[in-house]
Amino acid sequence: MLGLENARVLITAGAAGIGRVMAESFASQGARVAVCDVDEAACAQMTEANPGILVRQVDVTDQMQVDGFFDEVLDGFGGLDVAAANAGIGGPAAAIEDQTLDGWKATLAVNLDGAFLTARRAAPVMKAQGSGLLLLTSSTSGLFGHPYRSPYATAKWGILGLMKTLAMELGPFGIRVNALCPGAVEGPRMDRVVANEARARGISEDEVRQIYVKGVSMKTWVTAEDVANMALFLASDLGAKVSGQAMAVDGHTETNGD
Ligand code: NAD
Repeated sequence: MLGLENARVLITAGAAGIGRVMAESFASQGARVAVCDVDEAACAQMTEANPGILVRQVDVTDQMQVDGFFDEVLDGFGGLDVAAANAGIGGPAAAIEDQTLDGWKATLAVNLDGAFLTARRAAPVMKAQGSGLLLLTSSTSGLFGHPYRSPYATAKWGILGLMKTLAMELGPFGIRVNALCPGAVEGPRMDRVVANEARARGISEDEVRQIYVKGVSMKTWVTAEDVANMALFLASDLGAKVSGQAMAVDGHTETNGD
């Protein structure tokens, strides 16, 4: 066991995809878990499948909604050991001249505003406790560039700037701050991303999939479980001295994109 029994865990965008697997992984370790998600249907499915997990419909770009969620979770949990700002959208795939300001802003809003609004509520709780883990989800696109996905790559680099800064700012209070940098994760999200990118580049979906593994040493995509396992490690005592790190879970990306 990882010593996560009764750990109090909050995860944004936790009703589907990586966030859901992360939530279920923490719950399977005996943690108390609360998730939010903007998607009503996904929230309903998550609630049905996991009656022990608190699920609320929240848009992470909306400060009032995020604050309301934190208020409720903190009332119930009485503190917070892990806050995972996992919400992110892939954003539009297009050449820079075809990107729109609306698409740019929407991508930055979910990825960056969401992480900011989560961190600003988690930090004071963890400071008062003198402990906690803040986990921000970046991407290998935050370690490299990503042609045709400039809003997304920019947002994920921004996440690493926030992570590094908060690791410095909160470390003296016993709080660890790390980022997860998943490679391409198998699942419906990447199916959508690949389809959009194939359209934007004028190539086939198969060719896009090849591009995604071309620069990966292990020539592999990853699973949501691979990413959740890194979250469990970081939250456990095994990761007790790990802070300020961008943890890639990606089979080692040598180059991203072309
Ligand atoms: P996903 O598309 O499967 O989405 C997971 C959930 O996010 C969905 O249920 C969706 O409703 C929710 N969501 C979207 N916008 C939201 C908002 N404004 N407020 C609250 N919830 C919202 O995504 P995923 O693949 O599980 O990705 C999770 C995180 O991992 C994201 O930050 C993503 O950028 C990052 N990531 C994913 C991959 C990948 O290959 N899937 C790779 C690297 C990084």
